[in-house]
Amino acid sequence: MQYSESGPVSRDEENPFESMKRRFEVAAHYLDLKPGIYDYLIAPEKQVIVTVPIQMDDGTVQVYEAYRVIHNTALGPSKGGIRYAPDVNLDEIKALAAWMTWKCAVVRIPFGGAKGGIKCDPTRLTQVQLEKITRRYTANLLEIFGPEKDVPAPDVNTNSQVMAWIMDTYSMHVQKTETAVVTGKPLFLGGSRGRREATGRGVMLVTMRMMEKIGLAPKEARVIVQGFGNVGSVSASLLHEQGCKVVGISDISGGYYNPGGIDVKKVITYMESHKTLEGFDGADPIDGMELLKQDCDVLVPAAREDQITSKNAPDIRAKIVVEGANGPTTAKADKILDERGILVVPDILANAGGVTVSYFEWVQNRMGYYWSEKDVNKRLKRIMKESFDEVYRLAKDHNVSLRIGAYILGVDRVAKVVRIRGIYA
Ligand code: NAD
Repeated sequence: MQYSESGPVSRDEENPFESMKRRFEVAAHYLDLKPGIYDYLIAPEKQVIVTVPIQMDDGTVQVYEAYRVIHNTALGPSKGGIRYAPDVNLDEIKALAAWMTWKCAVVRIPFGGAKGGIKCDPTRLTQVQLEKITRRYTANLLEIFGPEKDVPAPDVNTNSQVMAWIMDTYSMHVQKTETAVVTGKPLFLGGSRGRREATGRGVMLVTMRMMEKIGLAPKEARVIVQGFGNVGSVSASLLHEQGCKVVGISDISGGYYNPGGIDVKKVITYMESHKTLEGFDGADPIDGMELLKQDCDVLVPAAREDQITSKNAPDIRAKIVVEGANGPTTAKADKILDERGILVVPDILANAGGVTVSYFEWVQNRMGYYWSEKDVNKRLKRIMKESFDEVYRLAKDHNVSLRIGAYILGVDRVAKVVRIRGIYA
């Protein structure tokens, strides 16, 4: 990734917020949004930058910049993950927050959109330092967070332990145990069954639906998955379970390709002990970006933004791209893939399984009654199927890509609520 003064820009010289805006503009055109409503919907409601100082083991003080952006709360409390990474910046968080707004609306859950991040390198921090950073970040954002206001969740480099620290810090300040302030918590602390796998399960469900639409049988489908974290590993595993042949995987250490098929169970076991794919011998090593260009039917980018750009889009050989990650395809790449007849199941639909089960977790916390994994998965399946079908129908009706279909659906639902609520003054 390259950098400008305002943060990272994709290889297509377009920051993620601009990329989001370009798709929003197309949807706004189809929806004939009035200019005022357009401006209101695109602008984040709140952008907070906080300073997070922590004392290191040697007594020195390290200061980190951190963000929380609330994009829109028309539909309900804002919802969105928190990521820890050295290249986190406000533009990226703004784009991710807006995507959360449209995503929640696409799957029709009563949440708005938000996102947060801390500019830090978690691989260079101890557990104690991570806990300090997390607790101070939470304390700085007490006014923002709340079960009825803004509900964080895990994202890149954050997990259920981080959510437990946020929940505990918040609870200490409000002097009661408030589980519903975050989702993605450990199971015994109010987490939902099925949440860990939910995003990957959603990816699998929409992939199966898309394959059905083009008449591709699972046993004929060769899949490449980029990223082997929460989303990538579960997507690969569940697609493998459905009978697809996973021929390529990757993580930050590089790519691994085996046209004969990779034993995904073996990879999961390898990851459990090594915490990296480096050294995995069940496939040939290949450069991570080259992996995306290999022959396959389904490509699942499940790592970070800006992976498919105008530079490599002409070389993508998949029939279907299913966006497990947020924003993995730039707007320029979208156009190229579309012209080449490659179907892209967009992030705001494809990875919405995570926020859907986060919503289930929040509901269960507030009811104090917990569902079985079977119930969670059944409800998730229904929502993913209905959402896919609605997006697919809208895309067909307007003769647009699935991405624009999803934006039309999401933006329209938020715009309708904004119109009916009116503008408070
Ligand atoms: P994670 O931290 O668990 O995993 C990220 C994976 O990507 C790791 O395997 C890492 O090594 C790999 N990676 C990073 N850079 C890479 C590169 N350049 N090439 C190949 N692999 C690379 O994160 P996650 O939770 O799986 O999230 C992945 C993406 O999915 C992000 O875009 C995130 O916003 C999105 N997402 C996550 C969830 C969720 O529930 N976790 C929900 C919706 C969307």
